Amino acid sequence: MAYKYTDNYREQGARKRLVEELKKKGIEDKKVLEAIGKVPRHFFFDETFWTQAYKDIAFPIGEEQTISQPYTVAYQSQLLQIKKGDKVLEIGTGSGYQSCILIELGAKVYTIERQKKLYDRTIQVLPRMGYKPDFFLGDGSIGIADHAPYNKIIVTAGAPTVPEQLLKQLAIGGILVIPVGNEEAQKMVTVLKVGEKDFEKVVLDTFRFVPLKGDDAW
Ligand code: SAM
Repeated sequence: MAYKYTDNYREQGARKRLVEELKKKGIEDKKVLEAIGKVPRHFFFDETFWTQAYKDIAFPIGEEQTISQPYTVAYQSQLLQIKKGDKVLEIGTGSGYQSCILIELGAKVYTIERQKKLYDRTIQVLPRMGYKPDFFLGDGSIGIADHAPYNKIIVTAGAPTVPEQLLKQLAIGGILVIPVGNEEAQKMVTVLKVGEKDFEKVVLDTFRFVPLKGDDAW
């Protein structure tokens, strides 16, 4: 079944303007910009709020959660350096928008959400749009051991520390991107796994995410 919404010149134009805005804000990765230019972000909004869909802002999606700001999605996606065929674990499916961007980048996506209402909505919406990640319902702070190792792991909620299981489930040579801090603000952190117990960590800019909740989280 096709998705009920349409993607017309008005939305396509708004999306192009968003891509230009992201370029000005420092997003340089062409593939990431192309992916943002392709995925119809308004499909994740109620029609009443379509005018908000191509603003560079986070927006409520219910259950006290948000669809991340496009700049944040682009920033994290850029850091992941996705290569075609990469196995990517996403913690925090939320609206599903980030999953679509990862799929456009050529990733095989495993995405996990802890809130059943959001999970139920996303497993309907994404396949109708033509995006088919593997969906999981549960606590992603402990990863998904059954499908490990992953070439890349992205956490889209703010964590107090880097969860041990995520480091374990990362392939050697793999990259983890995770916001780490307190509940008010977090620093974006990248972790490159260079050996079984050998990691290179880089701390980057400040963001504000909803909290990662779970066994190895808040
Ligand atoms: N990637 C999302 C998108 O594109 O819309 C952004 C989602 S929102 C900023 C963060 C999501 O992480 C929320 O939906 C929240 O319920 C979820 N979350 C928080 N803790 C989690 C956990 N331990 N496991 C899985 N999902 C979690």
